[in-house]
Amino acid sequence: VIEMGTPERSVVTTCAYCGVGCSFKAELNGDELVRMTPYKHGEANRGHSCVKGRFAWGYANHSDRILNPMIRDKITDPWREVSWDEAIGFSATKLRDLQAKHGVKSIGGITSSRCTNEETYLVQKMIRSTFGNNNTDTCARVCHSPTGYGLKTTFGTSAGTQNFDSVEETDVIILIGSNPTDGHPVFASRMKKRMRQGAKLIVIDPRRTDIVRSAHIEASHHLPLLPGTNVAVLSSIAHVIVTEGLMDEDFIRTRCDWDEFAHYAEFISDPRHSPEATAMLTGVDANELRAAAILFATGGNGSIYYGLGVTEHSQGSTTVMAIANLAMMTGNLGKNGVGVNPLRGQNNVQGACDMGSFPHELPGYRHVSDDATREVFEKIWGTTIDPEPGLRIPNMLDAAVDGTFKGIYIQGEDILQSDPDTKHVQAGLAAMECVIVHDLFLNETANYAHVFLPGSTFLEKDGTFTNAERRINRVRKVMAPKNGYGDWEVTMLLANAMDSGWTYTHPAQIMDEIAATTPSFAGVNYEMLETRGSVQWPCNEKFPNGAPIMHVDGFARGKGQFIITEYVATDEKTGPRFPLLLTTGRILSQYNVGAQTRRTENSVWHEEDLLEIHPHDAEVRGIRDGQYVRLASRAGETQLKAQITDRVSTGVVYTTFHHPDTQANVITTDYSDWATNCPEYKVTAVQVALSNGP
Ligand code: SF4
Repeated sequence: VIEMGTPERSVVTTCAYCGVGCSFKAELNGDELVRMTPYKHGEANRGHSCVKGRFAWGYANHSDRILNPMIRDKITDPWREVSWDEAIGFSATKLRDLQAKHGVKSIGGITSSRCTNEETYLVQKMIRSTFGNNNTDTCARVCHSPTGYGLKTTFGTSAGTQNFDSVEETDVIILIGSNPTDGHPVFASRMKKRMRQGAKLIVIDPRRTDIVRSAHIEASHHLPLLPGTNVAVLSSIAHVIVTEGLMDEDFIRTRCDWDEFAHYAEFISDPRHSPEATAMLTGVDANELRAAAILFATGGNGSIYYGLGVTEHSQGSTTVMAIANLAMMTGNLGKNGVGVNPLRGQNNVQGACDMGSFPHELPGYRHVSDDATREVFEKIWGTTIDPEPGLRIPNMLDAAVDGTFKGIYIQGEDILQSDPDTKHVQAGLAAMECVIVHDLFLNETANYAHVFLPGSTFLEKDGTFTNAERRINRVRKVMAPKNGYGDWEVTMLLANAMDSGWTYTHPAQIMDEIAATTPSFAGVNYEMLETRGSVQWPCNEKFPNGAPIMHVDGFARGKGQFIITEYVATDEKTGPRFPLLLTTGRILSQYNVGAQTRRTENSVWHEEDLLEIHPHDAEVRGIRDGQYVRLASRAGETQLKAQITDRVSTGVVYTTFHHPDTQANVITTDYSDWATNCPEYKVTAVQVALSNGP
């Protein structure tokens, strides 16, 4: 307990870590922030929080923060501290020179899911209107892009269907590819509370996560599948439901296309999807699988929650659509207690996607080739927009290696540490002539940068984040930016140095522009957020108070679409050289690559990433608990300590990726989701051997 006395004042704002989006009171004495306490009126957290959020303010004051802009001509030169004017002028000149020499499409940028909606909107606007191309992508590419694709295809909207409160009316939960106890702790508590009240839980995960069995709760079924076989397991659950006649025929007839369902039913009824056949592929016991399917179809309100264990696969988008199929065939949509609920990793993944970060979509998920949509933006922006989609992050890197992509502006994202196939990212960055990193700390990507623009923390700016339940929460300035500018102001400086003539004086004006251009945000403005506290989009004429539950009377696309979801094994295969499958996850006290959490008080909770290995696999390799091991894949190798545990099955190993020394992405391969290029982080064939340590 830290005694702080009674603070003089407090400012309500939103946590900048995970997609739960907890509201906090930042408490100050004078200008000094002394404590963050969970806000009891916060609609996403209702007075609860986790250790990450409580200590988040630590990194804002950390001495590692870079507060002055820096430039250098070559990445081998030392950094030179310069004024903002010089850094922005240097960046603008370089980017324009590159375009003059190599073409308009030779530069681009990356938005951040950690930044506000307003900041993300401005970055994509700068790329589209100032750079003059659609080479914009986002760090959501490497986490939830399959959610965007899968849910838009099946339901018509790239978002989860429910509010968090909905879990209080659920009877059966399928939790797949998610460990909410560590990743989304405040929501996990609500899920566990509902379990204690009698709700049943089916966990589909290669690892026995805490929620499978912990104090006073136990899942009804844990299906410990082999990494990479989600689609096979979900198809088998659908097979049981269809072949045993447990579908909600009324729902399918009224809300979906029956003929299309009939075609799907024929596909899914094939014996190759039976639990017995599936057991051979996935390692999941056939009786457990059948029992789980029957429970989900007959147990009352059925909800499905999922995380990156669904999306970060070569069939990530297919898996999302298989989940949507299950919800539609059982009528579990459009009311309380049901639905398809992606648990978003970062605080503003939903917002980054909503705000047009992707190279093919303008804000509101509208394709750049659509003339009417472009016209809306062109009128307000006073510019023309390229109708051709731009490059995704992996394509930008490929083009850089090929010599056609030359410059990039990266806001709030350490792509060298968080993107797959580190060597390829290094090669792409090294080939560029102007890399601008806009961030809080000198991260790994900054080693390849020519310009470093200091970023501001969530405590230093106004704006909004949109959480996993589509809730638009206010972020309020608690302290003046230590670097002099909020991130939205830095983007505006750069855009104006490239002759954009923007005149925003407050993020509220950016939100007004978002409302004017984006139908699902048409009713959103700062005044109403002050009055209401928060709102869940869509918020417009049809839904003036927002929409806690989506698809109540009909799907956004009209009829819900069943998709044929054929299981295709990943190309990442085990063999004599790499006989084990590695999968990855998080721990409670750390967040992503740890750039923020390692610089806060909670870093003392956990100091290193460990490799979980089953006792049998450890024994045959002569590995004892706590010894260093060499973890190698065809992409690369690293060393870390072993933790022997039966939480993982034989043949499967697991690690977290919070510390730069671990370099987990040196191990991961370049395979990715067929539809979105989301990397296949969750399946890598590896070998583990005893080592002497780093
Ligand atoms: Fe809430 Fe997530 Fe922040 Fe924890 S990390 S306080 S659960 S928003």
